[in-house]
Amino acid sequence: MTYQNYSLKQLQAIDARHHLHPFTDHKELRDAGSRMIVRADGPYVYDSEGNQLLDGMAGLWCVAVGYGRKELAEVAYDQMLELPYYNSFFKCSTPTPVLLAQKLAELAPKSVNQVFFGSSGSESNDTALRLVRHFWALEGKPEKNIVISRRDAYHGSTVAGVSLGGMKHMHGQLGGAIPNIVHVMPPYAFELAEPGESDEAFGLRAAKAVEDAIIEAGPENVAAFIGEPVMGAGGVKIPPKIYWTEIQRICRKHDVLLMLDEVITGYGRTGEWFAAQTYGIEPDTITTAKALTSGYLPLSALLVGDRIAATLVDKGGEFYHGYTYSGHPVACAVGLKNLEIIEREGLVGRVRDDTGPYFEQQLKERISGHPLVGETRAIGLMGAIEIVRDKATRERFKPAGSAAVVIRDHAIANGLMLRATGDTMILSPPLIWTRETIDLACDRILKALDLAL
Ligand code: PLP
Repeated sequence: MTYQNYSLKQLQAIDARHHLHPFTDHKELRDAGSRMIVRADGPYVYDSEGNQLLDGMAGLWCVAVGYGRKELAEVAYDQMLELPYYNSFFKCSTPTPVLLAQKLAELAPKSVNQVFFGSSGSESNDTALRLVRHFWALEGKPEKNIVISRRDAYHGSTVAGVSLGGMKHMHGQLGGAIPNIVHVMPPYAFELAEPGESDEAFGLRAAKAVEDAIIEAGPENVAAFIGEPVMGAGGVKIPPKIYWTEIQRICRKHDVLLMLDEVITGYGRTGEWFAAQTYGIEPDTITTAKALTSGYLPLSALLVGDRIAATLVDKGGEFYHGYTYSGHPVACAVGLKNLEIIEREGLVGRVRDDTGPYFEQQLKERISGHPLVGETRAIGLMGAIEIVRDKATRERFKPAGSAAVVIRDHAIANGLMLRATGDTMILSPPLIWTRETIDLACDRILKALDLAL
């Protein structure tokens, strides 16, 4: 690799001069310089200075099977030699997306059997938005095109992704969102539950906000509701159990489609293949990406329910939509092999029955009592630590997020990659983490918290 001919300082200077990063304050980056991650193995990544870091974020919610999987590299190599690229347009297909689509239909909830491929979660949500509006147009109801989403939701960075998402700072830079998208309250009990309100009562109230929005817009104008089963980038906001069954009931009552964004939760993170199964619901669309290939190559899959697929096929006409890389043969070969590894190693069941419950218990027993922690919560291998200035009143630090970034930096300096989003520390490790890895992560989190006191 040619990067080895460069010093860290040289790479940082080139980085600052030529490379625009996602979600980055470039002036700040220019002063501080990037940390260069140069290799990885199992649950660890290594920087250019030889520091070993336990990766508490699986890259960016991606690397389910961990790093350094030769099988994934080999299958990509073989596929590149055999057929590196061909499109799935104009009545062509290639074998790997066909077989991957079949596999996804087998794993998904039973009413979800068709797959549309893309390269990223954002693209896949674009497809989903266009598809649900197209569905209602084919059904002769083009006016049914409002989509209801939640504040703090993250659905990607394209214009459709940001418009569907509910992040104020992102809308602030959009210069105008796609019309007919309405945002309601998120199911975030830590900040939004009333004193003394039970989990169930709060879940029902948060779901009712969706029904109120449907009624206000008029059900005849509402195409769909979209949500992440567990809001990820917004701070691992885990809804009360009743929330999703109630949302499903409301959607069915008003004939509103249910769209799940499982870009983070798909492929085992919550202890089932899909969080739809964790919450026992049957959505009309499921957006997935990230852990589909464990991030080894870019690939997304929009899983489409039978009702939409039947209309799309039976009512005919061309759906003018698709990407050059839809069903990329190499990415799909890696996806198939990645799912085979997850299955062979029983990672989904292990998260459900062992590491997931252990992770939640350890966060509660070891971390939640710390003076800077207002609450810990987890589902499967997805967790959050709420940072507060005052444990009793839950008063936050000012400015918002200032303490969380200090804790994050201490964690990284002590060998753990974790992320701060607002006042919440979030964790989303590779699914290969064991009880021992969880113990090690908790040691490092405690150290970081103590250093921030
Ligand atoms: N949806 C959710 C829930 C996400 O968390 C993300 C990315 O983190 C996206 C969509 C966008 O995916 P991508 O960054 O691959 O476009």
